[in-house]
Amino acid sequence: MIDVKQIPILSDNYCYLLRDEKTGAVAVIDPGVATPILDEAKRLNWQITDIILTHHHYDHVDGVAEIKAQTGATVTGPAKDTHRIDHLDKTVDGGDTLTFGSQTAKVFFVPGHTLGHIAYWFEESNVLFPGDSLFALGCGRLFEGTPEMMWQSLQQYLLLPAQTVVYCAHEYTLSNAEFALTIDPKNNNLTQRVTKIKKLRSQGKPTVPSTLGEEFKTNPFLRPDDLGIRKQLEMTSATDAEVFREIRLRKDNF
Ligand code: ZN
Ligand code: FE
Repeated sequence: MIDVKQIPILSDNYCYLLRDEKTGAVAVIDPGVATPILDEAKRLNWQITDIILTHHHYDHVDGVAEIKAQTGATVTGPAKDTHRIDHLDKTVDGGDTLTFGSQTAKVFFVPGHTLGHIAYWFEESNVLFPGDSLFALGCGRLFEGTPEMMWQSLQQYLLLPAQTVVYCAHEYTLSNAEFALTIDPKNNNLTQRVTKIKKLRSQGKPTVPSTLGEEFKTNPFLRPDDLGIRKQLEMTSATDAEVFREIRLRKDNF
């Protein structure tokens, strides 16, 4: 199994340390900074062996050089981003398997937020690291891709088990929740979840991780087929991709 430690960094990012209990190998996912990660690893007495990246944005990679220099860790990242991510030792693409210690993850190609974005699903431990493709009650802003591309990407998550634990890369949940209520106001699962989220945030606690099951029931970006949402948007006969596009557009202007 994998032991996961969540480290809040920068203003609203989450970075993750993963320890393979069998071999003691330790991976860091998306280190946007170095010092807090190195300090936390030291405190835990974990030796970082691997650095794993989802996409090229600075808040996910700026700690790579320093952590690699200090630990000699192997850096793995998206095959399509070799021109814009430094220090890569290995690349992976959708359909590939990533290995660290005795752990293996399936790699999903999830373009939309960026064109090279990938995500990692450790099937045995059932944990998903979607980077900035999927958030609690949200999805990544489309800096490079199209809504159709993003919807295509996100559909891969719909096939994973509901109990999958989702470790996304930002604490955006409260503002996502306020938006989700405008799209899906009659969803009781959503209103209950929002109450829980507000309580957690008022106590300064993280709302991440969530489970895919919660996202399936409440995240509007995974629910363009939902009749309640379609009625709310007056799009009952549109395609899922068209409804997704509308939801993403509304979020951008929210
Ligand atoms: Zn990003
Ligand atoms: Fe980010």
